[in-house]
Order: sequence, then structure tokens, then C-alpha cells
Amino acid sequence: MDYARRQSAMRKQVEELRLDALLVAHLPNIRYLCGFTGSAAVLCLGLGRPVFFTDGRYTAQAHEEVAGARVVIRKGSPLLAAAQFAQKNKLRSLGIEAAHMTVASRAALRRALGGRARLRDVGPVVEELRMIKDAGEMALIREAVNLGARLLNTALPAIRPGVAETEIAAELEYAARRAGAQAMSFETIVAAGPRSAMPHGAASAALIPRRGFVILDFGVILHGYCSDMTRTVHVGKIPAGDRRMYNAVREAQQAAVDAVRAGVACGQVDRAARNGLYRAGWARYFTHSTGHGVGLEIHEPPRLGRGQTELLRPGMVVTVEPGVYLPGRGGVRIEDMLLVTGGGCEVLTPAPRDLIEL
Ligand code: ZN
Ligand code: ZN
Repeated sequence: MDYARRQSAMRKQVEELRLDALLVAHLPNIRYLCGFTGSAAVLCLGLGRPVFFTDGRYTAQAHEEVAGARVVIRKGSPLLAAAQFAQKNKLRSLGIEAAHMTVASRAALRRALGGRARLRDVGPVVEELRMIKDAGEMALIREAVNLGARLLNTALPAIRPGVAETEIAAELEYAARRAGAQAMSFETIVAAGPRSAMPHGAASAALIPRRGFVILDFGVILHGYCSDMTRTVHVGKIPAGDRRMYNAVREAQQAAVDAVRAGVACGQVDRAARNGLYRAGWARYFTHSTGHGVGLEIHEPPRLGRGQTELLRPGMVVTVEPGVYLPGRGGVRIEDMLLVTGGGCEVLTPAPRDLIEL
């Protein structure tokens, strides 16, 4: 990974924001900037060489993983270690990521600095850099997406009337680990029959009915990068009304995919999906955003939602996932991951989108 480029981009930010240093405490941001994958760290990015703080549990791992930064091992909180370092080096103006810091740790940081330094929230500056994926990241994302998509084939034979949703999730997750996934990228969603009307219906003890939709929304983490896909299958013969609903979502999803191109506002992609469903009369049952960025985190900027003015740029990786949910009856969602390119997009998810009847 090109840590040198990322660190120099952040150094420029520190300069532009007129900070003495930026204290990065959000772990995915730390991983992005220097490669560390452990669970306790702070990266202090000033104008000189970055300094990385962690505790004794990570001595070996930090020396092995951290690129382009001086590694400092301290007992206790890495944030307080960074504060001591800032004190000693007379860093007076410090940037923090308030969105990723508890009120308590912000107060502790302020105390440790003894009122001699000013803390300023810099917002999602690292996340903005992370929005554009580089070649190294794209290779890993493609691997994760392909592994995720292969799992669908494992899950399908398990979907039979009378089987619990959790059993299907178990098949998926077992196959994922067998294939090398570090973890699932979020709690696997298997929502059958009337439960498919819940957009976030995590797999429960509910049984697959003899007839109805089953929504499968799942992803893996491979080499740190997340995958995310949704397919909706139908058990038993599908009634005409349900088929219309499926086709409306399928067409809305295609319309949104077709709208994805560099220079287009994220809100415009959302509108494309919503317009498709509006024409079919289902728009008011589409109750969430159309998509989100994916990378080191399952949900990261940009957000493809109503009125979002952020412009798509080449190298962004986003999902497109419209859905329709009829309370008491059932729901349909179709989700793919896409790479934004200059002229349009590349659909990364290899699985077919046509209705699967089981
Ligand atoms: Zn999903
Ligand atoms: Zn998603």
C-alpha cells in the first residue's frame, strides 16, 4: 500500500488547517495511513515524521506493520501517550476526529494537555482521502467482492421451507471463514416471508415459509476490505403481484446503476432509483438511502441519499441497493458494489440479478 502518498496528503492537510499536528484515533483511518491492524493506537501526524503510539500488547505487531512512522510503545492509553508527546514538543494546535472520540476521552485528552493546547475537530478529512480507492485497494476489494458473491451459491441450497434463518446465516458464515474471510462485514441478514419487509432483519429463529421472499444481505472482510451484497430469492411459486414488485426493484436498481458516473451528484443516483419505483407506484415503500461507500469500513462516505450534493469521482466504490418493503407482506432488495469510472461504472458484484425461484 502507498502509505507515503497517504501520509504526505495528510501532512498537506495539517499545513492547510494550520495545525501543529493531527491526532488520528479512528482505527480504520490509522490502518489506512500506516498499515497497523491492532485495536489500540493513535497516530500523530505533524509536519515531520509521523509518530505512532500503542501499548505493550502490540509491540511486535506495530514494529512489523507500521509503515512510515516512528513507533512508540507506552503503558496505558495511546491517546494520553500522544498528549504527553504533544506537551513535550510544544504542539499547541491539535486536530482531532470528534466523530470518533467519546466525550470522556476528549475530556481526558484536554486534562492531559493541561490547558496549554487547543483541540480542533477536523471532521472526516481522512475519510475524504479514503473515498478514492487506489490500485492496491481495488485489488483487495475485488477479492472480497468475489469471495462474498461465491457464498450465495452455498446459501441457496440451504433455503428450504422449515429451515431457520439462522441456519442459512450459519452456512454462509461457515463457508466464508473456510474460504479465508477474517469476519463478516456486518451481522448477516436473512429475512424470510413477512420478515423480508424489515430492511435490517438480522437472521432470527424464524423459519423459511412454504412461499415468500427471502432477503439475503451479507458481506465478508478479506485483507481488511469489506464486501456487501443483497439478493432476494422467492421460495415456491411467485404470485404475479410479487413478481411485479421484484421487477420494479430490479429496474430501479438498474436505473440507479446506469446513473452512476464521475461528476454526477450522489443525490442524483438516489433520485434515479426513486423515480423508477415512483413510476411503478412503490416509491413510498422505499424507506432508506440508495447506497453508501464501502472499503475498510462497511459504511463510509460517500452516501447515496436524497439531496446529497457530493459528486461521484473515479475510484469511488459504492453500493446501489434500492428496496421495497410492504409491512406484513414482504420485501425485495437488490444490492451490488460498483466502481465509479470516468465514463460510468463497473459493476463489481458478479452474481446475476434476475429472480431466483427456489
Ligand atoms: Zn448490504
Ligand atoms: Zn449496503
